[in-house]
Amino acid sequence: MSAPLNAFVKQVQLALGDKWVDQRPETLARYGEHTLPATPRLPSAVVFPGSTADVQAIVAAANDHAVPLYPISTGNNIGLGSRAPTAAGQVVVDLGYRMNRILEINDEYCYAEVEPGVSFQMLHDELSRRGDKLMISATSGPPHGGILGNALDRGAGYGPYFDHFGMLCGMEVVLGSGQVLRTGDGSLDTDNLLNWHVSKYSFGPALDGLFTQSNFGIVTRSGVWLMPRPPAARSFHFIFENDDDLAEIIDLCRPLKLSNFVPTLFRVTNDLYALGTEARNPEYLAGSRSAISDTARRDLQKAHGLGAWQVSGMFYGASDAAIEPQIQRVRAHFERSGNARFVDHDQAMDMPPLRVGIDAMTGRPGILELGMLQWRPGSGNSWFLPGTPMSGRHAIELDHLGRQIFARHGMDYIVMHVASARFARGLHVLVWNKDDADENARADACYRELTVEFAKRGVGVGRAPVDYQAMHMEQMMPALQDVCRGIKRALDPNNIIAPGKYGIL
Ligand SMILES: Cc1cc2nc3c(=O)[nH]c(=O)nc-3n(C[C@H](O)[C@H](O)[C@H](O)COP(=O)(O)OP(=O)(O)OC[C@H]3O[C@@H](n4cnc5c(N)ncnc54)[C@H](O)[C@@H]3O)c2cc1C
Repeated sequence: MSAPLNAFVKQVQLALGDKWVDQRPETLARYGEHTLPATPRLPSAVVFPGSTADVQAIVAAANDHAVPLYPISTGNNIGLGSRAPTAAGQVVVDLGYRMNRILEINDEYCYAEVEPGVSFQMLHDELSRRGDKLMISATSGPPHGGILGNALDRGAGYGPYFDHFGMLCGMEVVLGSGQVLRTGDGSLDTDNLLNWHVSKYSFGPALDGLFTQSNFGIVTRSGVWLMPRPPAARSFHFIFENDDDLAEIIDLCRPLKLSNFVPTLFRVTNDLYALGTEARNPEYLAGSRSAISDTARRDLQKAHGLGAWQVSGMFYGASDAAIEPQIQRVRAHFERSGNARFVDHDQAMDMPPLRVGIDAMTGRPGILELGMLQWRPGSGNSWFLPGTPMSGRHAIELDHLGRQIFARHGMDYIVMHVASARFARGLHVLVWNKDDADENARADACYRELTVEFAKRGVGVGRAPVDYQAMHMEQMMPALQDVCRGIKRALDPNNIIAPGKYGIL
């Protein structure tokens, strides 16, 4: 252990207690592993703060001894970096292990105040225990992912409260300098705060966004808005048979979101994304350089009652009967095309690929979608996250581009478009065998080519795996890079919080 690290460890042990600093080889190995193509990045230690004061003590020690930190909430960011730091040797600050308290649930204003370790599952379970009056906006990812970790990486759900960063209100942040900042109405200089978690915008600049997808501070708590659970919720689903039906789907979804007739986002999953819940690539052969064939895709679609694309959304209301006219309207809209096959809520409840969306849109965390990580053996997984304007013409052009690049690298094309009024985020999932060196290299090359080719067409990403963040930052205009560096110097002068994360040094 180097002298500065040794001094850091001693200082943190003194402040937190010996047992909250872990340097056992098995712990370092567990925190260093991830699903991306690169080799593991082992931290030099993992520390477990129990309070904001502990986080300040850790930041102070890091500043004193120039030891870089890497904060995580629950570290379930699978496919985007998991728990592993941006560089080997950083100290992981695992906030989730001890700072996992639900500090408040306010039924009147419908919000919770949570620490970073509060997972989707924990908050869901607590709300259920209190009578299920409020619901979280769930992802279809790991139920034990953190509400704050997800929102700080600007993750999203699918229901009306899908914008997880947008639903945060009033953060507490420890800056790299060690100062504690409250955002929004919490920034009033008093301990008697009335509006912290109900009013997002206060006097002065709105700073909350600075702490998402960055390395400017460590968030220690936040308010999160919750939707009252409606008495009834009914989903609708349409299945389209052909790959090129995507253009029509996007054009059909757009007006329903522009008018806000449909209150959820649309999940538009291709066959392999939907099938990931319950199927494995039947043609996979170790050492093969081929993606799954169209014939095998068609066979799987048939076997599972799916098509090339499935579209899902949901209505909420006072009763099933009250919702029915909306279902009929959306059905008439989609069926006009002649290409859409309707699947109703009750049928979809028995179809795991469609059930995933129902669970997420009703605020129920689930593990079904995690099945896609076993589509191929060997645990490789990364997510390329570009997007398209809500025009069929653009969507299909980008779809053809993505398909070709995946095929060129022998990767199976697994995609979901999450469609809103003007924009759809395209979740492109790479699943491969990390134990196969050639396949691992192809997954890496595929991600890089996607990044370059989509950017050439004016398309960036909404979030990125740790290994590719620097590459994405280099694609940004110099002014943005300069501003990020300037803010970093102002808020974290010794560069101790996750240097290099999101390409910010
Ligand atoms: C099959 C599958 C489906 C998925 N579906 C979805 C989905 O529907 N929607 C979605 O959004 N995601 C999805 N994900 C991605 C992911 O699992 C979650 O977003 C995730 O769990 C994030 O929460 P976390 O607590 O694990 O974050 P962490 O891994 O702890 O952290 C995420 C990032 O935020 C930073 N961070 C965390 N806590 C703090 C803090 N307190 N202060 C400062 N920075 C911090 C970390 O440094 C890291 O960069 C999916 C993943 C898989 C594998």
